[in-house]
Amino acid sequence: MKYDTIIVGGGISGLSALHYLKKLRPSMSVRLFEGADRVGGVIGTDVIDDYACEWGPNGILDKSGLTRELCEQIGAEGLLESANENAKKRFILRGGKLRPAPMSLGSFITSGVLSPLGKLRIFLEPFTSSATDGDESIYSFASRHLGKEVADYLIQPMVTGIYAGSAERLSVRACFPMLYELDKESGSIIRGALARRKRKKLEAKKSQSGENKPERKGSMRLLSLKRTGVQALIERLSETYSDCIQTGCLAKDVTAGVGGSGFTVQFENQESVDCDNLILAIPSYRAEQVLTNLSGKLATATGRIPYAPIAVVCLGYPAEAASRALDGFGFLIPPSEKRDILGAIWTSSIFPDRAPEGKVLLRVLLGGGANPEVMDKSDEALVTICRNELSSIMGVTEPPELVKLYRWTKAIPQYTIGHMDILAEIESEAAKFPGLHLAGNAYRGIGVSDCLGNSLGVVESLPN
Ligand SMILES: Cc1cc2nc3c(=O)[nH]c(=O)nc-3n(C[C@H](O)[C@H](O)[C@H](O)COP(=O)(O)OP(=O)(O)OC[C@H]3O[C@@H](n4cnc5c(N)ncnc54)[C@H](O)[C@@H]3O)c2cc1C
Repeated sequence: MKYDTIIVGGGISGLSALHYLKKLRPSMSVRLFEGADRVGGVIGTDVIDDYACEWGPNGILDKSGLTRELCEQIGAEGLLESANENAKKRFILRGGKLRPAPMSLGSFITSGVLSPLGKLRIFLEPFTSSATDGDESIYSFASRHLGKEVADYLIQPMVTGIYAGSAERLSVRACFPMLYELDKESGSIIRGALARRKRKKLEAKKSQSGENKPERKGSMRLLSLKRTGVQALIERLSETYSDCIQTGCLAKDVTAGVGGSGFTVQFENQESVDCDNLILAIPSYRAEQVLTNLSGKLATATGRIPYAPIAVVCLGYPAEAASRALDGFGFLIPPSEKRDILGAIWTSSIFPDRAPEGKVLLRVLLGGGANPEVMDKSDEALVTICRNELSSIMGVTEPPELVKLYRWTKAIPQYTIGHMDILAEIESEAAKFPGLHLAGNAYRGIGVSDCLGNSLGVVESLPN
């Protein structure tokens, strides 16, 4: 049988593409093939002794509103939960001490993360900055606009928290396109942001008077689903579309379809399927493997996107184990502090139902683009590192009653300087094969909500 559309890859990108196809192109015949024996990709949860240990994401910043909308569309809105007020409080390690990260103007003034000079430097930004040509590293961009101290102690930890990468290697244009545009528009982030706010206010007035269409409303709140977290979204999607999903089907090759139209996808189990449209929602290093016979150039371009490794260590303790209050999201560590972990999320402080009554669940992150060699250590050694660091930073000295470790050798795609050039090459090569679409977190945004937006964009581009 020839399908109208085949999706390869059943992570959130592939599953959401399936959902949008069912909604927006209901007459199309469609099938999703996943290589593993379960869908979800890096999203998963193990419930052990009532602790909910998440393998990958622990929340979704619903910037676009697509996450809430998706949950409503598949009847999962009752499972949605927002992180509690603790999520607004984040800490950064400086000089061995946890200091509240400035999240508002008030906390910015009192925060001990920056010195008075470092704070003053930010206010000088509109007068000292000017636009530059081309792409640059996030670190260089931040130092140029906001000073080296901000780059070291605010931006670098933030980049670790999102990309597990080094601000010195990642591209500001690809990772923070809005900041890049503000720089190009007005040479200053602050001046540019003020000008944009003015424009937005005008647009809002217009939309109130009916001149513009109202947009889908996003929020900067961290969303998840009750008890098992983002995994519950995967479960609901796979139940809803179970008749279109086939697991255990690892694609190994894509060739042009019979008669030159569409595609034939060959699987490891010797089966093959034909389709008019092919959505490859797999990591780019996997796309490289399956696309080699279709287009060597396209395969090579997808293979140029590097990935950073991460180990996630979930640790459960009695609530009184920490000598400090766990009244926040957790903490991140700037590389200049020279620690062996990237930071820790106080999971049960923001989503209390992830740990049993009277207990706390912490998730420590290790590795990342700047410290990949940590991954060579044994599980035992990684847990010892976590325990030593938690003891030194948070005063947690007793042994954990729960330990669960997850290793991702290729966890997060790294949008390094020049990423947008790689994308342009991928897109121009892919355009030579009408009906071929690349989705997934390797290209235009690594957050779950970015993956939803990208998959929606791919589906909207398909013929009706
Ligand atoms: C440790 C960690 C923490 C994170 N935390 C957050 C967070 O808090 N918030 C957030 O928004 N995002 C977070 N992210 C990022 C986010 O989870 C991912 O970007 C997103 O889930 C990726 O989804 P995907 O479908 O694009 O890719 P994947 O989840 O990688 O799915 C790809 C799927 O394709 C399948 N596949 C691969 N090759 C083939 C093949 N040849 N044939 C068939 N199938 C194949 C794989 O088995 C997999 O199921 C985190 C990621 C990690 C690793």
